[in-house]
Amino acid sequence: MDDQRRRVPRTDAVLADPAVDEAIERLGRNLVRATVTAALDRVRRGELAPEAAIGAVIDALPATAARSRPVINATGVIVHTNLGRAPLSSATRDAVLAASGYTDVEFDLGTGRRAPRGASTLAAVAAAVPAAQGVHITNNNAAALVLAATALAGRGDIVISRGELVEIGDGFRLPDLLESTGARLREVGTTNRTRLSDYADVIGPGTGFILKVHPSNFTQTGFVGTTSIRELATLGPPVVHDIGSGLLRPNAAFPNEPDATTSLDDGADLVTASADKLLGGPQAGLLLGRADLVDRLRRHPLARALRVDKLTLAALEATLVGGPSPVEVALSTPVATLRKRATLIVKALADKGIRADLVDSTARVGGGGAPEVSLPSTAVAVSAHLVAALRSGRPAVVGRVHEGRLLLDLRAVPGTDDAALISAVAAAVTE
Ligand SMILES: *Cc1c(COP(=O)(O)O)cnc(C)c1O
Repeated sequence: MDDQRRRVPRTDAVLADPAVDEAIERLGRNLVRATVTAALDRVRRGELAPEAAIGAVIDALPATAARSRPVINATGVIVHTNLGRAPLSSATRDAVLAASGYTDVEFDLGTGRRAPRGASTLAAVAAAVPAAQGVHITNNNAAALVLAATALAGRGDIVISRGELVEIGDGFRLPDLLESTGARLREVGTTNRTRLSDYADVIGPGTGFILKVHPSNFTQTGFVGTTSIRELATLGPPVVHDIGSGLLRPNAAFPNEPDATTSLDDGADLVTASADKLLGGPQAGLLLGRADLVDRLRRHPLARALRVDKLTLAALEATLVGGPSPVEVALSTPVATLRKRATLIVKALADKGIRADLVDSTARVGGGGAPEVSLPSTAVAVSAHLVAALRSGRPAVVGRVHEGRLLLDLRAVPGTDDAALISAVAAAVTE
């Protein structure tokens, strides 16, 4: 033991090893030094042979200096809130990387003067939704709603149907969010039916605006009735429409999802939406609509606290201009393509002696909306014993257990990840 302690390598010597030195370039000296210190402590405790120290350091070093790990989303849920919602395309990732240094986010390189923040991103959103006279971008849709409530309702009333008081996830409820601004909710109608007259009865001088919220994560059927944007627009106060999923134009695949263009054409004064659901972009909130209202929001002091950073602006612009987003690709891939990929994956695994089967599956949009839509899909079924090993691999793989087997649904897995998926399963089996 004493002998081993005397043979503990010096920290400087380990840091000078070429492989460790390369990691310092990539990850920064502090992180690598901490990893080296931890490995040498293990040598001192006799848990690691001195000769194995460098190998242990290399194994323990993360791929990047942030702890979040890449995941192959084989759940069959395309917009998976726990897995970061929309993945970004490689063109969008490039744009984010390019914007991550000094950049002209608020500077006109032509004149050398200060310029409106994120002008090219705002222009891209405006071009995508010509019906919007004004465009503003916030940290997320919740922020867009808080800004609208604060700037347009103040201590006044927000009139909303009882059928639209929704919980958006993780225990957060839209009514609580709106009331946290100091505005008062004026609930009208019932859970299943709200008429135009219900709104008309409560509208008065204290009304800030009428809010229509798309129930994006559940559906109601049976004896139900809601009031359309067209009807609400006849009442007088501004109509704010939270469309949720971020469709900018009608999409035939999602007949029940509202879209910004139709909503504005129908008379909504403001539309709010998330950018990281069906739109397939980074986390952000879109505020689209009447120029005077958008201007009021943009100039409100709270707007500064809800603004997005340069990385988000770059990602949103690239998503709109560059397309198609990985979400769009996942939604539109023919099931025959998924079957072909699954066949090749099953064969590659069989060649490695691993039993896997192709099975039909059903995928979902997920937190992004359209709860009523199910998407035909294909999965590779493997042993459920692999669940934990796949989750702890690099990249991690998350599937879903069904009838005692682990289904790796390919709908949300980009084709370029098939080789990584095969390696991940093989590595999990070896473990
Ligand atoms: C998702 C959603 C929200 C919350 O949006 P975030 O961008 O996550 O803040 C609000 N309203 C509706 C209708 C939604 O679907």
